[in-house]
Amino acid sequence: MQSVCLLGSTGSIGQSTLDVIRRSPERYRVRSLVAGRNIRLLTAQIKEFRPCLAVVATAADLANLTSELADEGVPKSEWPELAWGSRARVEAATDGEADFVMSAIVGVAGLEATYEAVRKGKTVGLANKEVLVASGSLVMAAAAEAGTELIPVDSEHNGAHQCLRAGKRHEATRLILTASGGPFRDLPAEKFHTVSPAEALNHPTWKMGQRITIDSATMMNKGFEVIEACWLFGFSADEVDVVIHPQSSVHAMVEYADGSIVAQASTTDMRMPIQYALTYPERCASAVPKMDWSVARTWNFFPPDPVRFPCLRLAFEAQKAGSAASCALNASDEIAVQAFLDGQIAFDEIPQIVEETISAMPGRDPRSIQDVLEIDKEARSVAREAASRRAAKRDTLARA
Ligand code: NDP
Repeated sequence: MQSVCLLGSTGSIGQSTLDVIRRSPERYRVRSLVAGRNIRLLTAQIKEFRPCLAVVATAADLANLTSELADEGVPKSEWPELAWGSRARVEAATDGEADFVMSAIVGVAGLEATYEAVRKGKTVGLANKEVLVASGSLVMAAAAEAGTELIPVDSEHNGAHQCLRAGKRHEATRLILTASGGPFRDLPAEKFHTVSPAEALNHPTWKMGQRITIDSATMMNKGFEVIEACWLFGFSADEVDVVIHPQSSVHAMVEYADGSIVAQASTTDMRMPIQYALTYPERCASAVPKMDWSVARTWNFFPPDPVRFPCLRLAFEAQKAGSAASCALNASDEIAVQAFLDGQIAFDEIPQIVEETISAMPGRDPRSIQDVLEIDKEARSVAREAASRRAAKRDTLARA
């Protein structure tokens, strides 16, 4: 029986993880549920999965959770231990009773708990992108020291992890990550300025959280994945290719020294990589729909357009520049994405704000998670100013 700490239980990955767990109660037990503000859903999860510990984002969220549990008629004797904040997240992730930590909080709020879980030698299923984008060198060094492995949950890295099992690491020469191309794969360059949040949130193949959906539309998400892949598998940025594959069936490919290419394909259902991470190195039957080979199928592959999707170039450059740049890349993107969703800036201003922020940040090497969080904070403040300047300009033009 595997005891699971679930960071981000109320999110898209969190809920899919609980679905995998729900279907195999003989294999898994939920040790702790860590969420942010979705108290109603967390309460339902507590009632169903009976964790020993539940953690929320703030003291106010904790007060809401307490009232919700009471309102739902859950007897106090059946309440889990309740806590809030970053220290409690770290405690949940490093708890001696947890065997597996699923890292599925969005943003840097999940960073410290994941890092500490790795240091403690926990097996970590990694969905949260920010962990490696913002602090890849620190987290991978901690994993090597603790002798533990991060099992990627993101479908492309999970695919690559599977492809790399076909040969020895030194025999692998290139990694190819596929991208659906998002909703604007075929949109002419001049239309990017007028894209609305609703259009950008309409992803053609995946149903995901808001930030990652916008990042897919700008292709920053693929850029983050390039950075993550470099850290996870020890490739340089020059050894990683991105290829557009609209059907999202092949998730990753690895080219070996002899020219052979091994690809991983499956239907678009995150429960597959989640279950793979939970059962690795074994494989088990799953509820994920299988591919139907009785119907004709066409798979296309073509290179991305660097002009319409500058975020991809920015990510490659940031990975080459070092950890401070990739940390700033992530932080400024988060601010720019929110500014776009709030109607302050245009869609094509997201990469402009990111580029402006990275150039304004001093290049320094973060030596601790605290350093990472400081760079993150500084980059957010630079990006916020850049977004406000653009929003003010927009207002002035609208009034003229
Ligand atoms: P969602 O936005 O759906 O969920 C995010 C989760 O993080 C929620 O449980 C949310 O809690 C929690 N959270 C946010 N802020 C805090 C905080 N301060 N403290 C504690 N918990 C917090 O995101 P996704 O599930 O889509 O993605 C999660 C991560 O996985 C992201 O990094 C994403 O890039 C990555 N990923 C997602 C994929 C997908 O298919 N969805 C695929 C590959 C990677 P609450 O809702 O209660 O506020």
